[in-house]
Amino acid sequence: MTSNASLQSRRVAAIPRGVATAYPVFAKRAEGSEIWDVDDKRYVDFGGGIAVLNTGHRHPKVIAAVREQLDAFTHTAFQIVPYEPYIELCEKLNALAPFKGEAKSILFSTGAEAVENAVKIARAATGRTNVIAFTGAFHGRTLMTSALTGKVAPYKKKFGPMPGGIWHVPFPVSQLGTTVADTLKAIEYLFRADVDPVNVAAFIIEPVQGEGGFHPAPTELLEALRKLCDQHGILLIADEVQTGFARTGKMFGIENSGVEPDLLTIAKSLAGGFPLSGVIGRAEIMDAAEPGGLGGTYAGSPIACAAALAVLDVIAEEKLIDRANSLGDRIKGELARFARRNDTVAMSAIRGPGAMVAFDIVKGRGSEEPDADATKRVTTAALAEGLVLLSCGVNANTIRILMPLTISDEILAEGLGKLEKALVAANA
Ligand code: PMP
Repeated sequence: MTSNASLQSRRVAAIPRGVATAYPVFAKRAEGSEIWDVDDKRYVDFGGGIAVLNTGHRHPKVIAAVREQLDAFTHTAFQIVPYEPYIELCEKLNALAPFKGEAKSILFSTGAEAVENAVKIARAATGRTNVIAFTGAFHGRTLMTSALTGKVAPYKKKFGPMPGGIWHVPFPVSQLGTTVADTLKAIEYLFRADVDPVNVAAFIIEPVQGEGGFHPAPTELLEALRKLCDQHGILLIADEVQTGFARTGKMFGIENSGVEPDLLTIAKSLAGGFPLSGVIGRAEIMDAAEPGGLGGTYAGSPIACAAALAVLDVIAEEKLIDRANSLGDRIKGELARFARRNDTVAMSAIRGPGAMVAFDIVKGRGSEEPDADATKRVTTAALAEGLVLLSCGVNANTIRILMPLTISDEILAEGLGKLEKALVAANA
């Protein structure tokens, strides 16, 4: 009989350890903000398939749109016989672009592919090669995106050499002791010691670092980057793969700063559970690559485009941007209450715009010393309580909350109750 235990042993035997899994439980079905495993245990989902499910599991409108597309055709390859859903989706994305002037969009399948292509487009548009990224950043697991990612273990370990022309400067995080002034000084040194700014194609930045620990990029930094870009003819790429589509209380995370990027990479919640990604950019930049230089066999799958069109409707109809803000306020309020209890693991730095909420687990109240072991105990205890909960962060001590924005008040309260119990249970 299929059980979590039997699937775990088959998984270990058949699949390499390089693809790590957070939990030894296996999905049987999922709906809204709930998942059931093959042993029929129910979980409240605070992981959202890593920020993919802002509209929840199997949103009825998304499923209906996919069903309709399945009955028409599933694949022709946009590069061979193109189709309307791809065009309609790009028109809608262009209208959402958070910058003035004309936009164009192109579609791919994964977040890493979107980032790869944003770099290709930026290089083609500027005729320059170098790209500057940030420590703690995560941009994907292909070779170029691993190079852009600002963390060696496990993303670069054993996989070198990495592609050239990539530089990292410190990302400002008060808990880690880095400031915007440190970042700007490092860029100044980089421009003096290693790279002539006239050879820099782009800066790439997550408006809120995701895997790196849910650290918002300070508005002051984004404004300074915009200024440097304008001064030196460099492009600003916002990696919105994790922050996009209402999560941060705006359609795109960078809108919280008012800074206009030149290119945006999107994926995850774009298509509500179907593999789809894209690059939105200023029209003149987007047309720089030669015909045939961009694309991919499955890029912009019609099934995923149909799903994404439904996702955009759901975000508007269900006012998920407003909902993200009210959910975030409620969650932060509850977390602050948990933090005041004296019987939980020590929590600090409750943060995040909209519903992109996180906090750190530290070695004692008032301390800033990360406690990765206690964090692991929290996620393990949460699973036992029936809550899927994700950690992240360069020190593996951040708990992030990525529940669907469609979650009901009742299930949210239930999930927060489970989280509270896990925080107490982990206080070993
Ligand atoms: N960029 C960011 C900001 C991400 O969070 C991720 C995935 N966590 C990626 C890129 C890569 O996306 P994918 O895993 O779909 O390739």
